[in-house]
Amino acid sequence: MGSTIIKGGTVVNADATTRADVLVRDGRIAALGLGEDWAADEVIDAGGLLVMPGGIDAHTHLEYPVDGFTTRTADDFHDGTVAAAYGGTTTVLDFVKKEPDATLRDTYLRRRATAASKTVVDVGLHAIVPPRDQQPDVLDDLRLLVAEGARSWKFFMAYPGTQMVDDGELLEGFDLARRMGVLPLVHAENGHMVARETKRLVDGGHTAERDHATAHGHDSEAEAVHRAIVLAESIGTPLYVVHVSSAAAAEEIARARSAGAKVWGETCPQYLVVAYEDYEGLGDQAARYVCSPPIRERSNQSGLWHALRTGAMSTVATDHAGFCLHQPEDLPPQKLRSPGFFPKVPNGVPGIEDRLMVLWEAGVVGGHLDPCRFVELTSTAPAKLFGLAGQKGVVAVGADADLVVWDAHADHTITAAGSHLRTDYSIYEGMRVTGKPVHVLSRGRHVVDADGTFRGDPGDGEFLLRGESETFATTY
Ligand SMILES: [Zn+2]
Repeated sequence: MGSTIIKGGTVVNADATTRADVLVRDGRIAALGLGEDWAADEVIDAGGLLVMPGGIDAHTHLEYPVDGFTTRTADDFHDGTVAAAYGGTTTVLDFVKKEPDATLRDTYLRRRATAASKTVVDVGLHAIVPPRDQQPDVLDDLRLLVAEGARSWKFFMAYPGTQMVDDGELLEGFDLARRMGVLPLVHAENGHMVARETKRLVDGGHTAERDHATAHGHDSEAEAVHRAIVLAESIGTPLYVVHVSSAAAAEEIARARSAGAKVWGETCPQYLVVAYEDYEGLGDQAARYVCSPPIRERSNQSGLWHALRTGAMSTVATDHAGFCLHQPEDLPPQKLRSPGFFPKVPNGVPGIEDRLMVLWEAGVVGGHLDPCRFVELTSTAPAKLFGLAGQKGVVAVGADADLVVWDAHADHTITAAGSHLRTDYSIYEGMRVTGKPVHVLSRGRHVVDADGTFRGDPGDGEFLLRGESETFATTY
């Protein structure tokens, strides 16, 4: 492998900003310094630019089956990770959902092979714990999968009858996770409340796309977050709450953390900069914005920003789950498969390429976050939470050379046409951002160049076995 010098930039880590040149050798950061007499195969001029650790998107759904395996997301592990790289994200953590006719373990190993063969950046996988009746011996599989890289397990408190686990299953799963040094993740919405509200809306003829948001109330999210924290505390396990959308739910996490609970919350750009008001008048086209939990009222956003500023919320991931508006021939029915009937709209929005640019614009330029906190939310904290501390999430000697050279003065407009996803629309269409990646390195490979060229092949990325989450350390 070759060597690269990134010269003249300002290195931004979660704890400090420093002027330094970065020497990359054999895929790792070999040295940091100023005015050193290094030689390398390539020199990247980073004068006037920032050098940050590559983004870690801890929550994506690439080529991912949804709605009882009746459809899947449009971007596969290749398209999706190419787009991630263009956006400055060099690690993605995706999910494995047990297939109906296979065990969780067999599904996991198959999906891991698929991901590894296609990805252009590093990839890891969280295992989703199915309800016990779908696989009675699933805890045995989970135990075996830890050594295969499943160092985090996701539990659904929503979707009764398909994915929801009850409180007994949560307690049992949390207990095994604690004993195995695995971080449990929860999709925290009260599934019964959402199901009842959905039925009430449908019975009353309120089936428009925007009504999806009404079905998924703030109270159902806040209740589930609160319950998950209480259950996790009773077991003594740390807990990670994915895609917190409601300020009321963020408030539950803030309260628990200030009382010493080991709980970490993730929110997503769509909840910070997009609002219900943006799609309530769009009719069927509101399907573009349908995800769970939903994109809520604009008045909800300030509570989420508050949580990011104060440390109540710890990460920003995308929950990228992209579907096309126009139906491609090679994919099962996509976003508009059931116009006017929200319960059948595939849930999810694209965003894997936009995350850093949107959060920089709204968060850093917008005055909520400084560049160090930006790096912490998008890279350093996910590395610590998901067993990658030291290896990723930091510009330091010995770490993987996953690096983003960032132009904080670039003028860029986000459009679907300019993106590298298969998904054919953007919920950020037309958003002007100041700041974007110029060069991106993945393990020292210069995958995105200043002229926009992509250099990389399917399978260049590595599958991450990951270590134990820092949340098991008493100090984190
Ligand atoms: Zn998700």
